[in-house]
Amino acid sequence: MPVRVAVLGSGYVGLVSGSCLAAQGNSVICVDMKPEVIASLNKGVPHFYEPELSDLLTSVRASGSFRATSSLSEALANSDMVLIAVGTPSEGGRMDLTQMRAAVEAVGRELRNQAHFVSVVVKSTVLPGTTDTLVRKWLEDASGMQLGEFGLGMNPEFLREGRAVYDFMNADRVVIGSEDLKTRQCLETLYSPWKCEKLYVNTRTAEMIKYTNNCLLAIQISAANELANFAGALGGIDMTDVLEGVSLDRRWSPILEDGRRIRPDILSYLVPGCGFGGSCFPKDVQAIRSRGNEVNCDMQLLDAVLDINSKQPGELVTLWTREEPELKGKKALVLGLAFKEETDDVRESPARPIISSLLRQGVSVKAHDPVAMPNAQRAWTELDFECISDWRNALEDADAIFVITRWQEYRELAQYGSKPALAGKVILDARRLLSPDVFPNSTYLTIGRRAIQTDKHWTPSQVDEEHLSAPNVYGGK
Ligand code: NAD
Repeated sequence: MPVRVAVLGSGYVGLVSGSCLAAQGNSVICVDMKPEVIASLNKGVPHFYEPELSDLLTSVRASGSFRATSSLSEALANSDMVLIAVGTPSEGGRMDLTQMRAAVEAVGRELRNQAHFVSVVVKSTVLPGTTDTLVRKWLEDASGMQLGEFGLGMNPEFLREGRAVYDFMNADRVVIGSEDLKTRQCLETLYSPWKCEKLYVNTRTAEMIKYTNNCLLAIQISAANELANFAGALGGIDMTDVLEGVSLDRRWSPILEDGRRIRPDILSYLVPGCGFGGSCFPKDVQAIRSRGNEVNCDMQLLDAVLDINSKQPGELVTLWTREEPELKGKKALVLGLAFKEETDDVRESPARPIISSLLRQGVSVKAHDPVAMPNAQRAWTELDFECISDWRNALEDADAIFVITRWQEYRELAQYGSKPALAGKVILDARRLLSPDVFPNSTYLTIGRRAIQTDKHWTPSQVDEEHLSAPNVYGGK
């Protein structure tokens, strides 16, 4: 049985969720506070780049299962459930609930006017304990009703930008957090076309699942990066060979009975690089760290994860300064501004601190991205760099070429490997997109791979000598 659902907040998560839920036969009304977003959706045009979304939107609009409106009251009058998918950004490292509170209170005010039962479900990422305390209170205060007269749930979203439609349609699992039976049942019906495992929990467990998921992935990335920096400092080791060796452990890549090996997606988080970015990992790790501190929990591991990650873009620039101690007057070409491939999202992209560091050192910067240049220009107004539409023609003029985002089209750089355009240039491959071997006339640099340092042989440090000469636990030397 289809569910009538309103989605409040039609951004990367809200619009993709709404379109996919509509594609499975539910009746969806997307709402957003920005009139230009609604106008664009009602023309069938997504207001951001996401593969497959445009065709999906066209098809759900044509089927009549999807529409968009600025009117929350109209949406609620025609819905049994409202999914709240507004932004929960970071403000000074803490979760900023300004959008959430405004959205929840608006829903609360509208609840008063509804003759039917409505379940309010948080889809945004919020800290454990947000839905059953703050959201509940805001709803009760704004509506004058009590939980039970309306429903309350939390349904975290795990999609990845760049493959959001695929991820939503092929969810690994659906987490159904609820504080009342009607909401649990309504979410169960909403997701009945999804045949994956469903987990039924309370709202704060649902919230914690999302944070734990993101924190563990972020930990893995920072761990790989720290060890890659160490390998690079030693020299003579390629960290991708190391990680390949590690990944062949059957606990990372299980071997089936017929001898075939499974290479799980998680291995893609074991690649050295310039750190994680995007609208989720940095802000979610920061938020849980600061909440941990508020409740007197040591969050040392997450401190370290964030510390390593914040320095990682700088590691890339340092590689260049080791080759060229004086960068003033040099020219850099930056390939990729989005925080990852297949998206136009530049939130917390490592490209920003990299460009900023280059500019501070007197380097002039040209940059390219297949879809994210308008967003970067809007968001990074403090950075004086030039966006260009044709990166191939800019190769000749650059002293160094930074590959920051794994866009497939940048693999084409390999075709210029032996051409004069790249002779004498420095290639800084932050994403291990290219093979070092194809650049015979250039200097190829990347995180976790450096020539052996013949001038720096390991010798026992002073501490080691003191340790060796100290009495041992048995009293002898
Ligand atoms: P977004 O900024 O792209 O979209 C938020 C939308 O909400 C915007 O269009 C904004 O105009 C609208 N909005 C804000 N306040 C509103 C209000 N009061 N009424 C109506 N509309 C309002 O954000 P997003 O990337 O879609 O993220 C939304 C939430 O989902 C966040 O909590 C995020 O952490 C979480 N999340 C994001 C991703 C991702 O990959 N982007 C993945 C999983 C979870």
